[in-house]
Amino acid sequence: MNNDLWVYVEDAAGRTKRVGLELINGPGRRLAEIQGGQLCAVVISSSAEEPAKAAAAYGADKVYVVEGPEYEVYTTDAYTHAFSELAKKYPPKSILIGASVDGRDLGPRLAARLWTGLTADCTQLDIDPESGNVAWTRPAFGGNLMATILCPDHRPQIGTIRPGVFKLKGDPDHSREAEVIREDIRVAPGAIRTRMLEIIREAGELVDLEGAEIIVSGGRGLGKAENFSYVRDLAKALGATVGASRAAVDAGWIPHTHQVGQTGKTVGPKLYIACGISGAVQHKVGIGGADKIVAINSDPEAPIFNIADYSIVGDLFEVLPAMTEEVKRLVGIRNSEFGIRN
Ligand code: FAD
Repeated sequence: MNNDLWVYVEDAAGRTKRVGLELINGPGRRLAEIQGGQLCAVVISSSAEEPAKAAAAYGADKVYVVEGPEYEVYTTDAYTHAFSELAKKYPPKSILIGASVDGRDLGPRLAARLWTGLTADCTQLDIDPESGNVAWTRPAFGGNLMATILCPDHRPQIGTIRPGVFKLKGDPDHSREAEVIREDIRVAPGAIRTRMLEIIREAGELVDLEGAEIIVSGGRGLGKAENFSYVRDLAKALGATVGASRAAVDAGWIPHTHQVGQTGKTVGPKLYIACGISGAVQHKVGIGGADKIVAINSDPEAPIFNIADYSIVGDLFEVLPAMTEEVKRLVGIRNSEFGIRN
């Protein structure tokens, strides 16, 4: 075993998933240095060039590449085989995998194949100062407490990490080059037990909460589905993405793709505006990465105010239209100063 730390850089239909780059750019570099090893990316794809370059640009020292037509769409069998063969040949100390839909499938299967443990859905990473093991922290018991888990007896240590917890810092350096190690790992068609028959895209708008810089979220305080128009109007004026609490999603007012929190998305915007959201712990774990939180709630005792940077105690049906008008006015002034057409 070496002291290297691997980050899985997922390629989804020709698009490099942001979470792998977040992990390289932030915790990966820091943990690899403390472990005393190199920071390595793993790319498994039918077309690895773009994700391998992105991994280097965001800071990987080395990129392991497995390329072949059998990796065009994610399958548990092919990807587990490729990843585990790599890990057996170049045994790393730790592996970070983004907790995307496919990452959540790959991580545990890989851990079982390598006879080691896995901590799923982490929201914090560190190195335990006493043992030197990775300290994987994740919400436990319905989000009511945070549990830090160590894997002292088996290697590699593996964890899946929620997208959006770590932010991309600075711009990628496209002139950066990483050592590329290509491994020709083939998987016979008969060894892949699942086949992708059809990809059905979810109807409606695309929601990129994890990459959003501004989010305006609505909760049960909105009262009914139609009242999400108050949230959407402010979001439109700010150029923001619309989020929601689980209560609003469970009520059928807005699709689950908008949900923020423990069973929704973990977000890290510059500005998060919570409207009619009480601030249950399962919602708060999803917004810990926000730079500034504004909360609007009629109840002065609402727990959301404990973490808000700006607290507005009031009726959201009065506050939101006033905010929207003010934002529009300010945007209008800015546009006229810079000669931008509205
Ligand atoms: P409420 O708690 O009902 O709060 C509504 C708020 O609106 C109140 O504070 C009220 O004062 C305010 N309000 C009412 N009228 C007005 C008005 N006119 N103006 C201003 N304010 C007003 N929740 C999530 O959000 N995300 C998750 O991912 C998530 N995952 C969960 C996972 C598990 C395992 C469990 C057990 C729960 C999870 N929950 C999650 C649910 C969570 O516990 C809360 O039930 C939920 O967040 C409450 O949503 P809410 O704040 O919109 O509703």
